[in-house]
Amino acid sequence: MHRELTGEGLVFKVGRFRESDCWVRFFSPALGLVTAFAFGGSKSRRRFCGCLDALNRVLFKVRFFPGKGYYCLDEGALLQGFPSLRRDLGRQGLIANCIRFVQAVHVDIQAAPAVHALLLETWEALERAEAVSPLFAQFFRVKMCFDQGFAPCLGTCAVCGRDASGREVLLSLDQGRVYCPRCALFASRTVRLGAEAHAALRRVAESGPRQWNEAELSRPACAEVYRMAEGYVCYHLGLRWSHGRFVSA
Ligand SMILES: [Zn+2]
Repeated sequence: MHRELTGEGLVFKVGRFRESDCWVRFFSPALGLVTAFAFGGSKSRRRFCGCLDALNRVLFKVRFFPGKGYYCLDEGALLQGFPSLRRDLGRQGLIANCIRFVQAVHVDIQAAPAVHALLLETWEALERAEAVSPLFAQFFRVKMCFDQGFAPCLGTCAVCGRDASGREVLLSLDQGRVYCPRCALFASRTVRLGAEAHAALRRVAESGPRQWNEAELSRPACAEVYRMAEGYVCYHLGLRWSHGRFVSA
């Protein structure tokens, strides 16, 4: 017995084996991260019409064989290519970093639609943006962390309740709450966020990747966002970047 499903996926990687067969790793809103075999995939233009390449958004017909524990792709049709992204090595490096992060997080099936939507918007933002924020990879990790149930409360001081918009705050990494400097006595594991870094993180929390390239941040603000992103992701998802890959913290 097998189960069949037709649905879209973003292709992370394609590998070839034997003369005409492929394996395809892709992220699907219905299945999460999947590695599937495409027998005859590198030859059959009728069944796959040139869609089996990394970065493509593809409509797949998938079969799952529970007894054997593997997925097979019967057909694929290209829904969206990303030609500018494909020509830009720097942006491809950013995408590769986002992909490694998604793979390291082990997204569960309930969270897969939100992660897929974030990935697709990331692909589209990097395809179209004229300039890309140097903090884009950090913004992506932080956004994913927020979406996995660890969104901080950035709007008001956790002690006095004062509106913290546009102000310097201390963010408690473990509590996900902000404190104004005079209330910070009550906070633990804090990182300082000046007004600029605080506003940038609120923008990431409230918007998607298309809006992340708009504001240019000063160097001190970049350093603060960087420190926050590393600390927050490490504390909540248990991951840190080391020697070109994500490892358990
Ligand atoms: Zn306060």
